[in-house]
Amino acid sequence: MSYIFAVANQKGGVGKTTTTVNLAAALAARGQRVLLVDLDPQGNATMGSGVDKRLLKTSVYHVLLGLASLADARQVSATGNYHLLPANRDLAGAEVELVGLDHRETRLKRALAAHDGDYDFVLIDCPPSLSMLTLNGLCAANGVIIPMQCEYYALEGLSDLVNTIKKVHANLNPDLKIIGLLRVMFDPRSTLSGQVSAQLEQHFGDKVFRSIVPRNVRLAEAPSYGMPGVVFDRGAKGSQAYLAFAEEMIERVKTF
Ligand code: ADP
Ligand code: MG
Repeated sequence: MSYIFAVANQKGGVGKTTTTVNLAAALAARGQRVLLVDLDPQGNATMGSGVDKRLLKTSVYHVLLGLASLADARQVSATGNYHLLPANRDLAGAEVELVGLDHRETRLKRALAAHDGDYDFVLIDCPPSLSMLTLNGLCAANGVIIPMQCEYYALEGLSDLVNTIKKVHANLNPDLKIIGLLRVMFDPRSTLSGQVSAQLEQHFGDKVFRSIVPRNVRLAEAPSYGMPGVVFDRGAKGSQAYLAFAEEMIERVKTF
């Protein structure tokens, strides 16, 4: 059985893709069989996995619309050592095209169900919205990983996401729960970072992961080489944090 996690936060630029790509590669480095699903039409996770989004013949778009199977559309990330269900701009059309179809919220779930034995972990990189695509991610998942920057407005957006997760839990996917909040782009010298971080721990207790990912330029440089940061520069502080996070996730799933 695979553990399926959606990496979600409706804000853009908060570290979803960086987290998905690096967690995927870090889990793979620990011997786990991983599938990364890129659910964002921007295709950043695809490019960051070393696959050119402009050259895709089949992608997650085709899988969602029933035009290709997952087995046909998936590729191997040579740099990350995991499987990738890639995405590109085609996916932007899916939002509208899905509306008229049956089981529109559970299409990804159904596609993944056929491959339950293939992977230990499936990680879904969600787009920055609470859209039909994100809904497909949340319906397919056992849990949600929420990357957060420790800044003043971080908590504000969180309640919308938490409410959406509650609604999906109540109506569409009773398995869904918040696995945890991951503090990313953390600046240990900033007083505000420290305060928001402490607030998160107060409100969410052990739903806040122990691992903290610092702001680290090597993580930002890696995608332009088509590599996860943990492969591009394993020794960098940010990479070490994601490797520790992968350990924490492996421990965490044992308690499920
Ligand atoms: P999202 O997927 O939520 O839009 P990204 O993962 O693409 O966010 O991150 C937004 C930007 O911040 C990207 O340019 C990325 O390289 C950079 N970034 C993400 N995490 C870090 C980090 N820990 N340190 C430095 N830069 C980061
Ligand atoms: Mg992204």
